[in-house]
Amino acid sequence: MSTTPLIERYREFLPVSDSTPIVSLGEGGTPLVELPRLSDRAGVRMLAKVEGANPTGSFKDRGMTMAVSKAVEEGAEAVICASTGNTSASAAAYAARAGLKVAVVIPEGRIAAGKLAQAMVHGAKVLALDGGFDAALDIVREVVESHNVALVNSLNEYRIDGQRTGAYEICDVLGDAPDVLAIPVGNAGNVSSYSLGFAGYRDAGRSTRVPVLFGFQAEGAAPLVLGRPVNDPETVATAIRIGRPARGEQALGAMVDSGGAVAAISDRDILEAYRLLATQEGVFCEPASAASVAGVLRRAADGDIAPGSTVVCVLTGHGLKDPDMAINRSPAVQQLPAELRAVEEALFG
Ligand SMILES: *Cc1c(COP(=O)(O)O)cnc(C)c1O
Repeated sequence: MSTTPLIERYREFLPVSDSTPIVSLGEGGTPLVELPRLSDRAGVRMLAKVEGANPTGSFKDRGMTMAVSKAVEEGAEAVICASTGNTSASAAAYAARAGLKVAVVIPEGRIAAGKLAQAMVHGAKVLALDGGFDAALDIVREVVESHNVALVNSLNEYRIDGQRTGAYEICDVLGDAPDVLAIPVGNAGNVSSYSLGFAGYRDAGRSTRVPVLFGFQAEGAAPLVLGRPVNDPETVATAIRIGRPARGEQALGAMVDSGGAVAAISDRDILEAYRLLATQEGVFCEPASAASVAGVLRRAADGDIAPGSTVVCVLTGHGLKDPDMAINRSPAVQQLPAELRAVEEALFG
């Protein structure tokens, strides 16, 4: 994390002026971490862009610093979003920072505990609807038509602008764009941002090329892979449990034009990548994020990625967002009497 606001660091690439009041929590500047054991396994150089290191624990902060700064500039009284969790956590924090009211509309159940805690602690009005994410988004879109409230979902163009900075940072650290960027896809806002970010950086002469973009959806929530909406999306990766991606068309075009594609990953493979990242690399991300790593392991095995390629996996959110998942997927805690012998027995057999 950096103390300089993200918007200041990339001001020349962002639609801000001297009269934009910058609302920042020190977002961006997240680590790009080598994954040596997974690299050996895949036969490519894998790195993780650890977006869980953002202030509220997900990449959403890159977009939210822009969206909330512009909402203040434009005189909004409040912000609202529909969210599978991380957008609401980020919106709640940045709105609190800006002194704006905030409401978040979430699908019933299945919001990871950490994300809900964040929205609540920052003082958001939290409304849970007895429907899925897609229905929640339809409703907030109608609300903003007749009220002075800014919509901060990824339909908000400023979100997309802010999230382009992830691509800039990767180029700045590597010295150029990687060969491949792998990314989980929900509403397809982030993959759209990365695509625009890499292209813009190359056009500005800050890098020489753009990467192949591989997007990954969960098998039970894969509308872009199937080519049709999914009515009841289901996956353990709740952050990408979306059946009608708001930016599907745009993102699909970007992935195909880059020489890449979108593919579906089973929950089993997602959870295996989640476990490997945590146990073999020391990197704790949320399940949706691990879809990028699971996807690269699969594509490398299928020969879709040239051996030795540099591959950046975007790990979109922090593992602590979903503590129940981590605890349920790990070996049980051992209960012992408070005695040396019992502890020695448990440790050394
Ligand atoms: C929002 C989110 C995604 C999906 O991003 P989109 O822009 O909707 O495609 C993936 N992972 C995490 C952790 C998220 O919070």
